[in-house]
Amino acid sequence: MYDSSKVGVMPEDVHVFTDAASGLECIVALHSTALGPAAGGCRLWSYAGREDMVADACRLAQGMTYKNALADLPLGGGKAVIRRPDGAFDRTALFTAFGRAIASLDGRYVTAEDVGTTVEDMAVIAGTTRHVAGLPIGHGRGGGDPSPWTARGVFLSMRLAVQRHLHRDLSDCTVAIQGVGHVGSALATMLHEAGAKLIVADVNAAAAARVAVALGAEVASVQAISSCKADVFAPCALGGGLNADSIRKMRAKIVCGAANNQLRDPGDAAVLADRGILYAPDIVVNAGGIINVAAEYLGWSHDQVRDRVDATPHRLAAVLDRAERTGCSTHAAAEALACERIDRASGRRAAA
Ligand code: NAD
Repeated sequence: MYDSSKVGVMPEDVHVFTDAASGLECIVALHSTALGPAAGGCRLWSYAGREDMVADACRLAQGMTYKNALADLPLGGGKAVIRRPDGAFDRTALFTAFGRAIASLDGRYVTAEDVGTTVEDMAVIAGTTRHVAGLPIGHGRGGGDPSPWTARGVFLSMRLAVQRHLHRDLSDCTVAIQGVGHVGSALATMLHEAGAKLIVADVNAAAAARVAVALGAEVASVQAISSCKADVFAPCALGGGLNADSIRKMRAKIVCGAANNQLRDPGDAAVLADRGILYAPDIVVNAGGIINVAAEYLGWSHDQVRDRVDATPHRLAAVLDRAERTGCSTHAAAEALACERIDRASGRRAAA
């Protein structure tokens, strides 16, 4: 039995797939299919054990349910996590086996990239199932790396948050970016073009150095980035970085970034609010990538993707308004709005 306290609201289904030949060990969590097929990326990571994999997949899948509902997508929420095999492994064999696992779910789950996976991996998966997006552009449809869209949604949301909370423009701000991988580096470029000053940190020192050279960013240590002197803190690495200790030391007045599940505990949203820090919920601001994935899967145009991503700050404003009106945290306001949409859709379905 898995410890349900570690996974939040229980998912509809949790599937375990293993394949000895390729070394595949994977969990697919289908948190909700109320609004449509459960969509969410596939993470390749060095997990300590099965419990950690289940907990991570379930937490991430729940976030996808809320994110997809808030972005008004006809998709439910799901997530796959694959344990990175020890030592050298055959990547094509691993993702071919993963594709077979996805195919067995008959379209209840749609996968795409997440941390540790690439467009090339998605192309391999497409060899065994059509329920995959984030394929290389040129595969006969849109798609490609969703990261630039995620970065754009975060950038536009950050601009709104700065205007609302600090009554300033991004050109007058210093932004501390934790993690300059696919999304963090694209976000850094947009912020640089908007005139913001940048501080960056990455466990991959070369990645941080590249951004420093290209954009004139200051480099901070991985330990110091969340408490450095900045107006905005942008978590763009892994989740769980916002906790009682990091919030207590934080000097930024806004948190707005791409990482999924930034709050170690949902209650930390209230701790941020108590310190006067505006938290732009990840499930609202980082939806650009899944919007692009949805468009690819559902056959929407590039213009539709842009319009929906560019509407991200409006959705954030609705969440901030609700939090102000009701006195709850921005995270709680976002989840409440998502649940209302899911309930309305489920009600319509039941009535039909
Ligand atoms: P990525 O793997 O390309 O980049 C993550 C970067 O963070 C890497 O450079 C890594 O070295 C660095 N990092 C890891 N731990 C760190 C730490 N403790 N301190 C500083 N740096 C650290 O991943 P990505 O695609 O850029 O995604 C970043 C985050 O955004 C993830 O949490 C992901 O789930 C989330 N996200 C991504 C997308 C997308 O479109 N790629 C969409 C929604 C959410």
